Amino acid sequence: MLPSSTVENYLKALYQAEATRNENGLVPIGQLATAVRVAPGTATTMVKALAESGLVQYEPYLGVRLSPAGTKLAALVLRRHRLVEQFLVEVMGMSWAEVHEDAEQLEHVVSDRLIERMDAMLGHPSVDPHGDPIPTADGELRGDADSAVPLSECEVKTRVKFVRVIDQDPDFLRYLSEAGFELGAAGIVTENNRAAGIVTIKVDDSSVSMGHSVAEQLLVERIAN
Ligand SMILES: [Zn+2]
Repeated sequence: MLPSSTVENYLKALYQAEATRNENGLVPIGQLATAVRVAPGTATTMVKALAESGLVQYEPYLGVRLSPAGTKLAALVLRRHRLVEQFLVEVMGMSWAEVHEDAEQLEHVVSDRLIERMDAMLGHPSVDPHGDPIPTADGELRGDADSAVPLSECEVKTRVKFVRVIDQDPDFLRYLSEAGFELGAAGIVTENNRAAGIVTIKVDDSSVSMGHSVAEQLLVERIAN
């Protein structure tokens, strides 16, 4: 079976769900079906076909996990997605809020030759415009220890650098841009009121207050004072 865009979307959804999988290491079919926006019965049929191709391991009634071969294919889809996003922003001047949908299409059609050329033109970036890590051409994630934490967990007076955004809804990304939140921007936490659910951060001269649910979506690295 050739890796069609449907197959690739299932593998990608599993790869991204596995970060939050349950203790038995399986993604429930219902969760997978929601992620790829199909009925559970449709997802089950597809998962059985993927299992026959050796891309996943399926345990009826329990769930599904990627095989090593499926993991590698999924990582390469994400590599194409994230390099395309980076290319659209860095080379074509698009906004980080508008590149996801184009990358969803292009990730299935760009050739290896084209993607490696993009990678070289971009100087082999390690992250995409949203701070998501770009897997290598071998399908590996670069193993630098993940020191990023949600902004919501940072105490007052912590100096932080904004490194990754989890929620990539275009409206949310536009809101962040308007508030002065660019990837790499540094600021200082001036308020973290858990009772009221408010975090305030000062970036340059402007202060931005946000709810805890928003601050949970912004990953930062603590930097020395
Ligand atoms: Zn991205």
